[in-house]
Amino acid sequence: GTAEAWKDFEKSKVYMADLESGLHYLLRVELATHQTLEGEELKTFKDFVTVVAKLFPGRQSVVKLLETLLEWLVSLPLEKIPFDAILDLVNNKMRISGMFLSDQLQWVGCQGSRVGLRGYPCSLWTLFHVLTVQAASRPDALANTGLEENPKAVLQTMRKYIVNFFGCQECGKHFEEMAVASLPQVKSVDQAVLWLWRKHNQVNGRLAGTMSEDPHFPKTQWPSPDLCPTCHEEQDGIHVWNEDKVLMFLKQHYGAANISPKHMY
Ligand code: FAD
Repeated sequence: GTAEAWKDFEKSKVYMADLESGLHYLLRVELATHQTLEGEELKTFKDFVTVVAKLFPGRQSVVKLLETLLEWLVSLPLEKIPFDAILDLVNNKMRISGMFLSDQLQWVGCQGSRVGLRGYPCSLWTLFHVLTVQAASRPDALANTGLEENPKAVLQTMRKYIVNFFGCQECGKHFEEMAVASLPQVKSVDQAVLWLWRKHNQVNGRLAGTMSEDPHFPKTQWPSPDLCPTCHEEQDGIHVWNEDKVLMFLKQHYGAANISPKHMY
């Protein structure tokens, strides 16, 4: 077969290779299923690019590409944008110096035990956890974008992206149901970080033992006690989360300083 060598990684780290591979897949592969963007899809894509251009804690060359894409989208008076035009920009056809997004898929923390497991969906969760944490730690980052002063800006953008673009439509349906039921209660950027964690665990619970589960990466309620002992408590013999500790853990785990450049192209 063509199985790649297993790459060593630590569960306590987040990998930039996963985040960049996810962005590559989103921009060059997932988006390609839409020949032109208009209306709600175009608005959703603009919001997504705004959020990543302002909040992605990545390499300068990638951030510059996202910023250039954003400037271009904002300056265009068009109501329809062909995917090919976006692809030309993502591939830097105009050869602007210092901007680049690798077109290699290199899963590290998101590598699966076989093709078809983990990979892109794992990187998308990771990306949005990173973005909610960035939004909470850099309150001014979204200034002058139209998304400022909205503690749910990242989550609403994720919600619209998942519904309009994410290849797994059943996932979009489930995510939308969760958002309708509980997103209105989110009132701060910290609550947004915790909301995504809670919903992700809900999905893990639903998928445990199903075909979506990589046998080498069982679905669990995350973070496990070995990753964050103080996140777990017992009250009257029943497991409860210490949400203050969980929030601190999420900010550390998904914070810029915990993103490893290991195995990057
Ligand atoms: P993932 O669940 O992708 O998690 C990636 C990494 O995030 C984990 O390895 C861990 O390090 C960390 N993590 C785990 N839990 C949490 C948490 N609670 N908070 C923060 N970090 C955490 N698949 C389906 O089959 N049906 C669905 O309905 C479905 N809905 C989805 C909805 C969304 C929005 C997304 C992005 C994906 C969805 N998927 C669904 C895919 C599924 O959730 C997994 O992404 C996929 O099965 C790969 O799982 P994984 O083992 O890589 O871990």
